[in-house]
Amino acid sequence: MAKWLTAWRNDPDTAWLSDSPVHPQQQVLRRLDEAYKRFFSAAKAGLAGGRGRTGPPSFKRRGEEPSIRYPDPEQFTLDEANERIKLPKLSWLRLRMSQPVEGALRNVSVSREGSAWFVSIQVQIAETVPALSVAPTLGIDLGLAKFAAMSDGTSVEPLKALTRQQKRLRRYQRSVSRKVKGSANRRKAVTRLGNLHRRIAHQRSDWLHKLTTDLADAHPVIALEDLRIKNMSASAKGTVESPGKNVAAKAGLNRSILDAAWGEFTRQITYKVQWRGGQVILVNPAYTSRTCRICGHEAAENRKTQSVFACVACGHTENADVHAAKNILAAGHAVWLKEETQRAAACGGEVSREAPERQARVKRAAPMKQEPTEATMREVSHA
Ligand SMILES: [Zn+2]
Repeated sequence: MAKWLTAWRNDPDTAWLSDSPVHPQQQVLRRLDEAYKRFFSAAKAGLAGGRGRTGPPSFKRRGEEPSIRYPDPEQFTLDEANERIKLPKLSWLRLRMSQPVEGALRNVSVSREGSAWFVSIQVQIAETVPALSVAPTLGIDLGLAKFAAMSDGTSVEPLKALTRQQKRLRRYQRSVSRKVKGSANRRKAVTRLGNLHRRIAHQRSDWLHKLTTDLADAHPVIALEDLRIKNMSASAKGTVESPGKNVAAKAGLNRSILDAAWGEFTRQITYKVQWRGGQVILVNPAYTSRTCRICGHEAAENRKTQSVFACVACGHTENADVHAAKNILAAGHAVWLKEETQRAAACGGEVSREAPERQARVKRAAPMKQEPTEATMREVSHA
């Protein structure tokens, strides 16, 4: 198809194709090829159509934000000092650098969100951080009333700005639905709604990134609940794991948004501690909220209220979320100890960490634009 592309670019009927640089067009063909390969291999395995993930490639829909990738570092020049970038056929473009770019440039993606254009630069950095072999120092309990409670007694409130924005979001949505379809006023309302959606997404992303970076800087090995199990048990049991149906509503956020935020939190903190040579240890969330960490007594009655843990056997009382976080840390420590012992036995007394085994256990989040891809080299994107 790359050969056809050249022919089409030279054909007077489709000469408009040559208005745009050739490399991003070839990149689109490559992505199409990958999408078909995925589809056919899934079809062969009898998975096509299942779970909505493996359908054939579809055309871009109207209203979808455009983006193009320049795959070849030879094709662009970044002038960091003057905050500008040179792209084929577009010459020099001014940009605002969000952070310094370090490492060897790999590729550039240009994308549009509403009226704003973004340049994402992917770079490759030699990984110099050795794998650590240290015990977890922090357990984190993700919850509804508090976004996260830590085993060191601190906690993180849900992002308040989001609660306020949710109200405005509903107002804007109503405003759109009241306007006549096809009218200029409706178009304006749709633009306003889209801009708010983007602002909320950016605020949430910014907040989460700061939170996970701070945590990863302070704690190389962190214990977290396995959300896949936690979410299942929460919906099945209802009472203990998610007490008070209205907690999410009171926090002004619906449950699906929280689920997404927890998943993204887990994804970010996992790769950030990995970059620093550490790891995230996932533990089974069963009983972390109702087993006494002092005497080990396990009973639903230990959680009389949402906020207080009170052991009916030994009388130990503590903030319920912090108590759960300490249980998660202890469970993480047990998992770590077991694996270290196994590794020590397997290596004849020498302890070393192998990344692949660990990665198989770590939750694989939905594929993102930028993910650390190799064990020894890492790729970082600067947006
Ligand atoms: Zn107890």
